[in-house]
Amino acid sequence: MRVIGTAGHVDHGKSTLVKHLTGIDPDRLDEEKKREMTIDLGFAWLTLPNQELVGIVDVPGHRDFIENMLAGIGGIDVAILVIAADEGIMPQTREHLAILDLLGIESGIVALTKVDLIDDPEWIELVTQDIEDFLSGTAFVDAPIIPVSAHSGTGIDSLLRSLVACLDDLPDNTNYHRPRLPIDRVFTVSGFGTVVTGTLSGGAFYVGDSVEIQPSGLAGRIRGLQSYHQTVETALPGSRVAINLSGIEKNQINRGNVVSLPGQVHPTILVDVAYRHLPDASRPLKHNAEVKFFCGAAETVARVRLLADELVQAGQESWLQLKLENPVSLNRTDRFILRFPSPEETIGGGVIVNSNPGRQWKRFQQQVIEDLQIRLEGTPAERLEQIAIGASPLKRTALQEKSGYASEELDFAIQTALDENRLIQLSDNTFIATSSLQDLSRQNTEIILDFHQQNPLRLGIPREELRSRLGLKQQFFNLFIEMQSNEFVAESGIIRQSSHEIQFSESQQRQINTLLQSMQQSPYTPPSYSNAANIVGHDVLHALIDLNHIIQIQQEVIFLQEIYVELIAGALDLIEHDGSVSVKSLRDKFGTSRKYAIALLEHTDAIGYTKRVGDERIRGHKADQFT
Ligand code: GDP
Repeated sequence: MRVIGTAGHVDHGKSTLVKHLTGIDPDRLDEEKKREMTIDLGFAWLTLPNQELVGIVDVPGHRDFIENMLAGIGGIDVAILVIAADEGIMPQTREHLAILDLLGIESGIVALTKVDLIDDPEWIELVTQDIEDFLSGTAFVDAPIIPVSAHSGTGIDSLLRSLVACLDDLPDNTNYHRPRLPIDRVFTVSGFGTVVTGTLSGGAFYVGDSVEIQPSGLAGRIRGLQSYHQTVETALPGSRVAINLSGIEKNQINRGNVVSLPGQVHPTILVDVAYRHLPDASRPLKHNAEVKFFCGAAETVARVRLLADELVQAGQESWLQLKLENPVSLNRTDRFILRFPSPEETIGGGVIVNSNPGRQWKRFQQQVIEDLQIRLEGTPAERLEQIAIGASPLKRTALQEKSGYASEELDFAIQTALDENRLIQLSDNTFIATSSLQDLSRQNTEIILDFHQQNPLRLGIPREELRSRLGLKQQFFNLFIEMQSNEFVAESGIIRQSSHEIQFSESQQRQINTLLQSMQQSPYTPPSYSNAANIVGHDVLHALIDLNHIIQIQQEVIFLQEIYVELIAGALDLIEHDGSVSVKSLRDKFGTSRKYAIALLEHTDAIGYTKRVGDERIRGHKADQFT
């Protein structure tokens, strides 16, 4: 489905032409009829000679109502630029063409109207020549110029044929399954309730769909749909649509709000844009200037941050960040227009590059500009990479939200980014930028090697310390450490470089021998941790624990590793023979003291080898893991 829009100076015959083409009077306001002038948007539809049904948005040409024009012009596919043969090019002819150009509407026809008023064929030739000059250097350079009269019917057939040709040349409307309807009118119909209209893009709506109104987030349901006064079950992208909403009152909705599926569109107040200042703008655009921002059917005041220039001069392009006074629902690639509020003037426009940067950028930052450049012009894979860089792993949904890609586009972009080694897939649904992972690996190596250097008597860095220094979430950290297993060993809560070994000095080795001897002499009632530390020092004792030569089961209770194993095996043996083990039976079996027996059994309870029942212990749920 397609929508045609009119454009041109006031009184040049736009509404009359639409009425002639469609039989519908687009000037619906009483005041418009009285003043014989279009104030607000008018809507009509028409069946072309090839039987294609198209919508027509008739915009006001008067300079006072240019902002109404902006609310309706956004969604159109083809423009009919109306120029009256008797007057030729006028100020709003220029302004409207500039706006069409900024909005990226490149397909158009010039209707040279009121030719019935001109007797002199040379005059028509002259005006045509004038218009050709005017169009050269614009996107409308090749637009056909068709002399018509809505009064005599001259040229109307030719105009219709040109429209068919223009529409044939357009690419198909894509259904991204992300329907958006920028609302250009809200009204109530008695017996039905709230109705909103707009030009639908991005996807289809179905009767019964749950929808949201942005930016308010109000929830409603589609009770009925109309397209060109036909009741329909499905409204297709590219068509003019009226939606009968249930659950939402008329006064809760404004022009410029957007109807979307729940959760798909997020309003924003900061937006990064590529901007072009019009060549005939009366003054340059300054940093911090207050402007009016128009996008879709929405309008709000905005403050301009010039990211790359001190000033933007007439005809110049630049990068801006706009701070919107009211939240607006925007998509990447949406076109927008800026106007000075006073004196009122259309000054330029461009394209949304990042609809939700989430933060204010510093000015004159090379990196920020480069990022914006990639967002605007990069391949889909480059853009995904850029989105993923610096971030922790991203879920597919996050990539989609940040990129603004529809499902199929996203699949393609992800696949290409994986093929080009820009992204790495961590799990079914999680991705990370290759360069981010490389940075992280570098950082990881640095932290571990530094730890080894600072702590020669420690086997390695505790997992948790490494995790918090890398600033990673638990799940990703575990995966990351697994990915590093070529170079680094992770065991018993410690991570070390595979080649790292603790080297004791000769005097330390002598102290260790003394300690080990003492522990071997009374294996089941060994020296306490503090006593052991007095012999070898805290650091060496810690190293012996890291190395698993000594096992610490409580603050003060340590055993030689082989004794620790023997004690547990003994406890489990007792359970096997006697049905259970107690502090007393363990104490007696090993000739140890109550203190050690209690410490050991509390430890085996804690690690699941035993389970306490009254004063006895039976096999715990992890007893089978003991070897
Ligand atoms: P708009 O402001 O561009 O929508 O212009 P209108 O459609 O309201 O037309 C402005 C005036 O021009 C009206 O008085 C029309 O009757 C008149 N008009 C429009 N089209 C033609 C035409 O083809 N021939 C003549 N003679 N008058 C026209």
